[in-house]
Amino acid sequence: MELSNLTCYNLIEVMQMILKYRDKPAKIAGYEALLKRLPANHEKRRLIIEKLSNAKAGAGGEERIDTILSYFEPDYPFRMIQDLSLPERNQIDTLLIMQDRIIILEIKNLGGELRMRTNPSALGQTLLDGHRRFLKNPVIQVETAKIKLQKVLKAMGIQLPIESIVVMAYPSQFVEDVPSDAKVWIAEEVLVQLYKINIENKILSVEEMHSLGKALLSIDKQYQPFPLALNLNINLQDIENGVYCPRCKLRKMKRLVRKWECYFCDIYSLDAHLDAIDEWFMVCKSTITTQECKAFLELTNIETAKRILRKKGLAEIGGKRNRQYLRKEGF
Ligand SMILES: [Zn+2]
Repeated sequence: MELSNLTCYNLIEVMQMILKYRDKPAKIAGYEALLKRLPANHEKRRLIIEKLSNAKAGAGGEERIDTILSYFEPDYPFRMIQDLSLPERNQIDTLLIMQDRIIILEIKNLGGELRMRTNPSALGQTLLDGHRRFLKNPVIQVETAKIKLQKVLKAMGIQLPIESIVVMAYPSQFVEDVPSDAKVWIAEEVLVQLYKINIENKILSVEEMHSLGKALLSIDKQYQPFPLALNLNINLQDIENGVYCPRCKLRKMKRLVRKWECYFCDIYSLDAHLDAIDEWFMVCKSTITTQECKAFLELTNIETAKRILRKKGLAEIGGKRNRQYLRKEGF
C-alpha cells in the first residue's frame, strides 16, 4: 500500500516524542522591567527581587532537567510535555505519558540545607548565611498535582496510574527526612530511574498515548502573570516612565528626530521604544491608548505616539476617539 500524504503526516506526528517544549518564562523579563522602573526605596522591591531570584532559579533547574531528558531514548514509547498548565491552576513542570502510567516531575532548584518536615508539612531551607525559611513541601505539591490530574483523566474516561516525583536539579541539593512513601530523585538519576521502567500492562496503545498528550495540551492554559503592577498591587503612579537604554539599561534615552540617544553610553537607537511598549504591557496594563503611550515614552508629540503604536502592529479596539491597542496574544 502506498503511503498517502495524510499517513506520512500521521507518522511524523507519532514519531514526535516531545509534544511541547518549555518557553523561557516571560515573568523574568517582567520582573526585571518592573525593578528598573520602580524607585530605589519602593516597599515592593524586596518582594520583586525575591520573586525574580526564585523565577531564575526555577528556570535554571528546569533547563538542566530538560537537557538531561533530551538524551531520553528508551525502548518503550513515551510522550513528553514540558510545562503543562491544567485547570485548577495545576502547573506541571514535566509530564511523561507512557502506555501503562503517567509520571509527573516536579523540578526544584534550591540551595542550602534542605529538610522535609511533616505534621505540619513543609520544606525547611537553611541558607549558607544561616538564614532559615520554610517553603511548600514539594512532595505535597506534586501529590496535589496528581490528584488534580486524576480528576482530569477521570473526566476524559481514562484510567491510568500516576506517579509523582520530585527532582532536585543539582546533586548538592540533598533533601533529608524524605517520607518513605515519597520519591525524590537527583537530576543525575532521572535517566537511570526512567530506563529501569518495564512496561508490562499496556493500558494505552501508542496512538492513544499520543492522543492523550494532545488532549491534555488542548486544555493547557498558561497562567498570565501580566500586568505585574496589578497582580502585585503596585500603583501605576509609582512606575517610572521613559525609554531606557538597551545597553546600560539604567538610563533613560533622549528622543531626537526619529531616534533615541543615551548620553552615558553614547549610543543611538532607532527602535528602543518597542521594548518600552513591551514593558508597558508586562508591567502596567494589557491595553494602551495613544495618550498613555505618549506619556509612557515621554514623547512631546501625539502623532509620534500614534505612528509608533501603528507600527508595532497591535490589535485595536474602540473608535477614533477612544482607541485602545491590545497586547499581542501569547506575549
Ligand atoms: Zn546607556
